[in-house]
Amino acid sequence: MIDLLWLLLPVAAASGWVTARLKKRQKSLSPDYFKGLNYLLNEEADKAIDVFIKLIDVDSETVETHLALAVFFRRHGEINRAIRIHHNIITMSSLSLEQRHIALFELGLDYRQAGLLDRAENFFQELIYSETHKVLALRQLLEIHQQVQDWDNAISTAQKLARANNEPMDIEIAHYYCEQAEKFRQEGKFDAAQQAIEWALKIDPNSVRTSLLEGQVALDTDDIKGAIVAFERVEQQDADYLSQVIEPLQICYHKIGQPETFTRYLYHLLDHHSSIKPVLKLADLIKQAEGDKKAADFLITNLKKCPSIRGVDYLLDLISSNKPEGFEQDFILLLKNLTKQLLKDKYVYQCNACGFTVRKLYWQCPSCKRWSSLKPIGGIEAE
Ligand SMILES: [Zn+2]
Repeated sequence: MIDLLWLLLPVAAASGWVTARLKKRQKSLSPDYFKGLNYLLNEEADKAIDVFIKLIDVDSETVETHLALAVFFRRHGEINRAIRIHHNIITMSSLSLEQRHIALFELGLDYRQAGLLDRAENFFQELIYSETHKVLALRQLLEIHQQVQDWDNAISTAQKLARANNEPMDIEIAHYYCEQAEKFRQEGKFDAAQQAIEWALKIDPNSVRTSLLEGQVALDTDDIKGAIVAFERVEQQDADYLSQVIEPLQICYHKIGQPETFTRYLYHLLDHHSSIKPVLKLADLIKQAEGDKKAADFLITNLKKCPSIRGVDYLLDLISSNKPEGFEQDFILLLKNLTKQLLKDKYVYQCNACGFTVRKLYWQCPSCKRWSSLKPIGGIEAE
């Protein structure tokens, strides 16, 4: 029933519009008009709409109605009808420039919704010199370039958008270079990857992603000292991402035979940040070197400063290795079960723009599509 009501909405609009137009023009009613009415009376809404659209010519007085009707169709998934109406409009010779630009933009949206991105792109390209639609068209083009992973064009369109709208796009452009660098890295083109990384870092010196990528490419090419410099840069860029560099730095320091320098770096992080990751890594190193008891003592001291479910979970493992008995063992098992439940299927990253939570780090939020908005979840729930 609801579906039928939706169908009748454009019919009602179209029939009222047709009648008004015909009365105004005082034309004799054409056979097509009765044909349309007949479809209406027989509840054949689709056919009635097609007849009415064909019946009324687009002119300067009806163009707004045609535009509204086409948008209505697109919103209800009837893309072909929307495209047909918009094409009719742009063939009209008396169209004002603004009306033409509106119709071209809407056609671009129609084709984009239909998944015909090449055609959509052509219509938006026609509008990049339009006073009224330049920024809107550039935004649409940028979304299409991102969708098809055309990073060269994404970079140039973002630069145009930044100029047109006086809107900084440095964060986005740096990510586009990073996307290119990742692709080059996967293809084993390390020089090209490093070049793209240099551009990204030049445009956004605070880009954590760029430092992580630079470190990975340096590791790939056995430039271990270069990798260490890149990974350690993250601390100054955004300490919320420290959890991303602990493991790679351990690999680097192990490769150059300096595990004690890595331990010193972890103590440095412990002194300057409230991240649980260095605490857990240090507890692990203490456990290997001095045993469970020392590691548990270290964790108890540091968990007071940096409370963490993951930390308590690890502490319970260390305590239970001492083989407690009776009540103490039951109590530890109970707590262990609790931390296990709390950590099960836990989200690790959250978008600070839309609140979307996810277990894997994405540099562009899968929900709101912003760049650099997903961050590791901190505090007691931190990994
Ligand atoms: Zn988001």
